[in-house]
Amino acid sequence: MFDTLSDRLTSVLQNLRGRGRLSEADIDATAREIRIALLEADVALPVVRTFIAQIKERAKGAEVSGALNPAQQVVKIVNEELVAILGGETRRLSLAKNPPTVIMLAGLQGSGKTTLAGKLARWLVGQGHTPLLVACDLQRPNAVNQLQVVGERAGVPTYAPEPGNGVGDPVDVARRSIDEARRAQHDVVIVDTAGRLGVDEEMMRQAADIREAVQPDEVLFVVDAMIGQDAVNTAEAFRDGVGFTGVVLTKLDGDARGGAALSVREVTGQPIMFASNGEKLEDFDAFHPDRMASRILGMGDVLTLIEQAEQAFDKDQAEAAAAKIGTGELTLEDFLEQMLAVRKMGPIANLLGMLPGAGQMKDQLAQVDDSHLDRLQAIIRGMTPAERNDPKIINASRRQRIAKGSGVAIREVNDLVNRFYEARKMMQQMAGRFGFPGGARGGS
Ligand code: GDP
Repeated sequence: MFDTLSDRLTSVLQNLRGRGRLSEADIDATAREIRIALLEADVALPVVRTFIAQIKERAKGAEVSGALNPAQQVVKIVNEELVAILGGETRRLSLAKNPPTVIMLAGLQGSGKTTLAGKLARWLVGQGHTPLLVACDLQRPNAVNQLQVVGERAGVPTYAPEPGNGVGDPVDVARRSIDEARRAQHDVVIVDTAGRLGVDEEMMRQAADIREAVQPDEVLFVVDAMIGQDAVNTAEAFRDGVGFTGVVLTKLDGDARGGAALSVREVTGQPIMFASNGEKLEDFDAFHPDRMASRILGMGDVLTLIEQAEQAFDKDQAEAAAAKIGTGELTLEDFLEQMLAVRKMGPIANLLGMLPGAGQMKDQLAQVDDSHLDRLQAIIRGMTPAERNDPKIINASRRQRIAKGSGVAIREVNDLVNRFYEARKMMQQMAGRFGFPGGARGGS
């Protein structure tokens, strides 16, 4: 995601390191390099101009601060300006006072609308909502069915016209879906609308009619980050033809540049609210301008990681495990539970990619695969509860059985058992040092 831009900006800013003072000429040169980086990343020209002008002005006028050296000050300014073009504050969904909240999706065909409907539904369920998907794309053959399939995967029902009743009128379907939501107590309605390969009047009119009929609380414009500069033109066409209250960027996994998408907020004045970065339902998250900016600047995205961790881990369970780490009582059972929680957060390479400095280890990250963890899980699952509590008791023949049952070599079972005791000892020592509950220096 934004890899090229991230690489370039990081190296421009790194060149400033260790400088005592920055002359005007230094600032101009840096601004020039940032400009090239943004243009190469496909950021729209007017956006680049504003951005560079801001950076120059602020860097030149930067008050000498005791806390930051000149290079750090430039990094801080670039970061703040990046946050600003990305929209500043995180914009959350605005929910209706009287449910259901109606969210309408608009965008070109292939932009990822239907997939997004499923992702958004699943995300809302995670937030305690009870969404209903509504199929108003009645033009593309199979679109209704596709929405039903994503809905099923997300565990959310889909409202669609009865098959066999002709094509149906999307405006009518949208209207009736609100009654259905009230009846069945869905507090959010997500209306998927028809898209075309290019912007066309009829599609715009239909979307505008649906908007008029159901008065959505949010109209989300879904845009494929891979379409380059066209993203900006399409956004402008939708703004004028239908109007929208927020933007969803999709396929951020596919484009190394993605700068056009970054321009959408500045050009249309509407905030980016969500980002999609893969075909699976969980490849999706709320968009946080500050976090995206630090990710682009190679500062990692520790906040996202923390939030995902909070969702994945059961607090009591995690605390209990932490206490056991301190007292050296951690068992393989606990280890398995924690590992399952970590894995709920997504592929390990993605998690590592959010850490600061991850930009520089892309090649290594590409090689991280989760099959090793699958094997560890299989081995632990093959053990009895008593064995998980104290793997020392596993004798040679049981080791052979476990290896066979989990499809691994005996060596791997031995490794796990041996390393478990070493790791437990090490964790206990560390826990003491960092004051974990129950740790050697942590009381209890
Ligand atoms: P719609 O025509 O706007 O409803 O678009 P779809 O939801 O059918 O998506 C079009 C294609 O893009 C499908 O093959 C999706 O699997 C794929 N897609 C959607 N979102 C993403 C994403 O974030 N990343 C990637 N790589 N593919 C996506």
